[in-house]
Amino acid sequence: MAPPGETERRREQQAFADRVAGLQDFDGAFELVKSAVFKKFKMHRAGLSLILQVMPSNLGAYHILGSNVIVMNSYVLAAIKRISGSDSEYNAYLFMVLAHEYLHSLGIVDENTVRQMTYDLCKALLGEGHSSTLMTKEDPSSLFPQLRYMAQNQFSSDFHVVKNFDKAGQSYIQ
Ligand SMILES: [Zn+2]
Repeated sequence: MAPPGETERRREQQAFADRVAGLQDFDGAFELVKSAVFKKFKMHRAGLSLILQVMPSNLGAYHILGSNVIVMNSYVLAAIKRISGSDSEYNAYLFMVLAHEYLHSLGIVDENTVRQMTYDLCKALLGEGHSSTLMTKEDPSSLFPQLRYMAQNQFSSDFHVVKNFDKAGQSYIQ
């Protein structure tokens, strides 16, 4: 028999994993990230913008320090969508990357601290074996080795601002 509380914890992790797997868009993913970070670390901010840009394939995303902007690599997103062939793996990547950049946007600059926090967050809410947790423990190429062999190594000057991103929290910054 599982120890008391263990069954309940597993059930909660499964329910949360179902929500990640069912994500439909960037805004939905970000709302879930924000509620997860609040639940785990009691930290919150609103008013972020998301920009999609083709960048070198070894870079998933970045946050411009002191700004309200997260830039995600649309080349890697498209590649993972193609390689994974499943919404749940793609969403696992999306959740993990947005959580990482959101933690930076909360003022946590140190890369190792953010990596550890993202891992702790995913492990607590999704369980050790979930794809998001595995990707935070190593990096996305541990799940998608094809990423290592992509020859995309330039920044495109084209970028796309995601509409209707982080709108639910706008009242916090007015
Ligand atoms: Zn980082």
